[in-house]
Amino acid sequence: MIDSYKHKGLRKKLVEEIRRKGINDERILSAIEKIPRHYFMDSSFESFAYQDKPFPIGAGQTISQPYTVAFQTELLEIQPKDKVLEIGTGSGYQASILLEMGARVYTIERHRNLYNKAKKTLEKMGYSPKIFYGDGSKGLPAYTPFDKILVTAAAPEIPKELMKQLSVGGIMVVPVGTGDTQIMKQIRKKDKDNFIDTSCGYFRFVPMLSNKT
Ligand code: SAH
Repeated sequence: MIDSYKHKGLRKKLVEEIRRKGINDERILSAIEKIPRHYFMDSSFESFAYQDKPFPIGAGQTISQPYTVAFQTELLEIQPKDKVLEIGTGSGYQASILLEMGARVYTIERHRNLYNKAKKTLEKMGYSPKIFYGDGSKGLPAYTPFDKILVTAAAPEIPKELMKQLSVGGIMVVPVGTGDTQIMKQIRKKDKDNFIDTSCGYFRFVPMLSNKT
C-alpha cells in the first residue's frame, strides 16, 4: 500500500470538492484528507479513488461516494469515544473515517469476502474496529446500547430492532426506501418510545438484505 504525493494532492482536491458541496465539519474533512481511499479499492480502480463517486468493490457492492460518507458522518454528530454501530462494512472506508474521528466502531458485513478484505485492510492500516461477519439488520444485541447507529445500505423501513439498540440521546442515520433512491433519515432518540425523525434528502444505496444470498 503506497500513498504517494499524487494521491495526497488528489485527496486535497477531493476535500475541496466536498466542502463546496456543503460539508463544513473540519474533523470530517481532515479525516477524508488523511485516509487513503485507494487502499479500500481494487488496484484497477485506483486512479478513480479520488473522484467523488461510488465504485464497485466486488460481490455486486460499492464503496460509497465520499460526499455521501461525509454527509452521513455529519448527521451522526460524532464525538470522540462514541460507540458506533455500522451496518454494511463494505470496503471498510466509512469505518476508517469514524475511527479516525475517535469513535469506537462496531461494524457488520454480510458478504464473507468483503468482510475478510475489509478486516485485512483496516488491520494493515493500524485500526482496530470490532468487525463482525453476519446479518446486521438485527444489530448486535450483545453489545447494546450504541450512541450512534449508521446504516450504509438501503433499509425498506426504519429498522425497529436497531432503534431499540440506540441509547437515549443517540442518533441513527439510515437511508430508507425500496425504490431507485432512498430518503436519508436522521433519527434522534428522545426516550424509549419517542423519536425525532428528520428527512435529509435523496441518496442511492445498494439494498440491505436480511438473508445471506
Ligand atoms: N460502508 C461501506 C459501503 C457499503 S455498501 C464502505 O464504506 O465501503 C453496503 C454494504 O452493506 C455492502 O457491502 C453489503 O454487502 C452490506 N449489507 C447489505 N445488507 C446487509 C446486512 N443485512 N447486514 C450487513 N451488511 C449488509
